[in-house]
Amino acid sequence: MHSVKKRLSITLILCTILSVALCTIFVNIAMNATFNKYLDDVQDKRNSRIVEYFKEIYIKDKKWSKNSGEELQHEAYMSNYCLTLMDGNKNVIWGMDPNEIKNGVAVHSMMLQNNGKGIYSSKTFNINVDGKIVGYAVVGQYSPVLLSEEDINFKLSINKSIAISAVIVIIIVVSLALILSRQFSLPIKRVADTSVRLAEGNYTFRLDMKSNIKEINNLINSINMLGEKLKNQDTLRKRLVADISHEIRTPLNVLQNNIEAMIDGIVPITVDRLNNLNDEVLRFGKLLNNLNYLKESDMEETELKIERVNLKGLISEVCEDFKTIAKEKNVKININLDNNEIFIFGDADRLKQVFINIVSNAVKFNKVGGRVEVNIKENKNNVAVQIADSGIGISEKDLPYIFERLYRGDKSRNEISGNGVGLTIVKNILNMHGAHIEAESRIGAGSSFTIYFNK
Ligand code: ADP
Repeated sequence: MHSVKKRLSITLILCTILSVALCTIFVNIAMNATFNKYLDDVQDKRNSRIVEYFKEIYIKDKKWSKNSGEELQHEAYMSNYCLTLMDGNKNVIWGMDPNEIKNGVAVHSMMLQNNGKGIYSSKTFNINVDGKIVGYAVVGQYSPVLLSEEDINFKLSINKSIAISAVIVIIIVVSLALILSRQFSLPIKRVADTSVRLAEGNYTFRLDMKSNIKEINNLINSINMLGEKLKNQDTLRKRLVADISHEIRTPLNVLQNNIEAMIDGIVPITVDRLNNLNDEVLRFGKLLNNLNYLKESDMEETELKIERVNLKGLISEVCEDFKTIAKEKNVKININLDNNEIFIFGDADRLKQVFINIVSNAVKFNKVGGRVEVNIKENKNNVAVQIADSGIGISEKDLPYIFERLYRGDKSRNEISGNGVGLTIVKNILNMHGAHIEAESRIGAGSSFTIYFNK
């Protein structure tokens, strides 16, 4: 298995070498083609010059002789081509031996393509004087293109430059590839290290780095968020154990102390006392019921009995049930409903549980003489139910956690009874219905819970 850095470096380097090699080949092919065309043009010009030269000699002498234009032989020999002069009847006046240039190649010049061993080919050009063919010039050579030493040197130096450029490009790109792959691999490695630290239970460990690559930055944020979540879950877990033992210990202590006192005859056994003890047993039972209910809704194994629910009817019913308890605390519950009927699809019993838990909190955490306002608003896409109270409010520190299992605000933990599962049940039931809940609160001023049902 390769590391990201190694894999990325290898890929980038291979791609670079391939593209540089392809570029070098294409540039070389293109350059050779252009250079050969240039040499072809030079050869054409040379041939025209030879024909023109013979023509001038013929015009001057009016006939061919054994030494007509013989001086061209030296140039031909030096330049590695073979020259033959024929008269109008194609009789050879003079001619060079192709073998001479074949063997003489190494001495005078070099031929790149055939090195003197190519196939001999010749071209015949007419020598026209006054519209009449007076002779023929035959130019033969062992290669379609003849290269002089300078030509070869020129070609070699170009090829050398291309090779040097390719090597420089490869060195630059390899260095860039290493830097780039480090840029990718380092944060990924650090994220992996962080996840190992978190898995080891070091929930306070955070990754303190930033990347200018969006996805990597998201990854860093996600691992830090995961760490935060794990830390909170861990705190909750510890709190949960403490809370459960506290919740169980309190009624048990009360029961134990009272029963012992009754057995010892210290306190008389009266109906009132037995009722008080029974209240503790009921409280104990309620806690176990809530935990059981929470387990069920957590496991999502409970099936919903979906039906058409009259939302206003349901909420009014719940508020009516709470009016007596609210009255004891001098809390007023106002339901602000307009005339339209609002129906949603859901499990009526479970939705009722949702409103019971929220209205119960709104009354429980209210001040004497406080208010609970219930508003229902309907729009095209959803129905929003807002339950606002003028109670003690929730601190900024507690607000993000109130829907967590067994979470209880500091104040309610110390002064108001409860077991911290009501809102978790609310959230689970709403999740099952595809609805969601938002909470806003200001300590001392009150809280507002808004539930959004899709229509
Ligand atoms: P419980 O009410 O049994 O403690 P909940 O899950 O219903 O558990 O609520 C969790 C915590 O959220 C409460 O302990 C309390 O601190 C806070 N809370 C919920 N509703 C309100 C409210 N209306 N006003 C103030 N605090 C609230």
